[in-house]
Amino acid sequence: MEHVRKRILVTGGAGFLGSHLCDRLVIEGYDVLCLDNFFTGSKENIAHLLSKTNFELVRHDLVEPILLEVDEIYNLACPASPIHYQYNPVKTTKTSVMGAINMLGLAKRVKAKILQASTSEVYGDPMVHPQKESYWGNVNTIGPRSCYDEGKRCAETLFFDYHRQSGVNIRVVRIFNTYGPRMHPNDGRVVSNFVVQALSNRDITVYGDGSQTRSFCYVDDLIEGLICMMDGPDDFVGPVNLGNPSEFSMLELAEITIKMTGSRSKIVFESLPQDDPLQRKPDIALAKERLGWETKIKLEEGLMKTIEYFKG
Ligand code: NAD
Ligand code: UDP
Repeated sequence: MEHVRKRILVTGGAGFLGSHLCDRLVIEGYDVLCLDNFFTGSKENIAHLLSKTNFELVRHDLVEPILLEVDEIYNLACPASPIHYQYNPVKTTKTSVMGAINMLGLAKRVKAKILQASTSEVYGDPMVHPQKESYWGNVNTIGPRSCYDEGKRCAETLFFDYHRQSGVNIRVVRIFNTYGPRMHPNDGRVVSNFVVQALSNRDITVYGDGSQTRSFCYVDDLIEGLICMMDGPDDFVGPVNLGNPSEFSMLELAEITIKMTGSRSKIVFESLPQDDPLQRKPDIALAKERLGWETKIKLEEGLMKTIEYFKG
């Protein structure tokens, strides 16, 4: 029987961002297929969707090919936090590169539109600030972050070559640090670390002197950006930055978190991880111009929702 609803595949759909994307697509009435190997994602993240008739779950490792009938693919499968992507670095690069090849091959075969979740890490430790899409980046090829950074850079290359060579309808977004409910409490990312530490009145671990900066995007804004890009004009394939341009030092973030949780935690300083970027802030002019997208949720508002989640 001919299908009526658009069938959408979300790889990494049981992860932090993937599960929020599945939520949104299920609510909008699409047929959603969530693919995950549960390396960093969990069934709990999508448990509430399992009873929906327009949601399906497939346990599969993206390093292996898979045949599916779909109209759109959001390719999110890849561990995203430094602790997780450095746990098995060879596997991380394989997931980005083999995963991209497998999903692009599928998209080519079934003529699906495909979006790649790339990252601000393609800019490395940036020499240009804020980062525009035209900046080529400053990335170490042989450091502890390289498995992730170079895997994601290679995936971008594959997306553009499948687009030029085979006419695959692609979208590439570069996601900047995103936070919110369902972040893994132990994956070492700064927002979850600080909130969990503050709520239990344990020391807040600031790495280095805390002057390094990041720009934090609340998950709902990010999901809106992913959908705007997928549904945007076919002549706008990216890459496009998606992130919140408000920039904070890690020391500022620690102080805000302590204040908002009313915590008795003290700030302690630990060594800065190798190749930790000193500054990061997206220039989102392109997303505003081509997609009419910009962030709406300020740090305090998003942080409050995240604190409530971790309290639960
Ligand atoms: P996450 O770790 O919560 O989610 C990744 C998901 O991919 C998990 O469910 C995991 O089990 C799954 N996965 C990993 N390897 C797989 C494999 N080989 N086969 C099948 N599934 C696999 O991370 P997230 O924060 O939700 O990130 C999602 C995507 O967005 C990633 O590609 C990440 O690189 C990108 N991204 C995220 C951020 C951020 O701040 N959260 C920033 C930049 C880019
Ligand atoms: N960071 C920190 N304390 C922590 C965890 C992280 O000071 O407990 C710092 C980390 O060194 C980096 C920033 O916070 O400068 C963001 O780290 P995260 O791992 O969240 O993301 P990424 O470095 O990939 O942007």
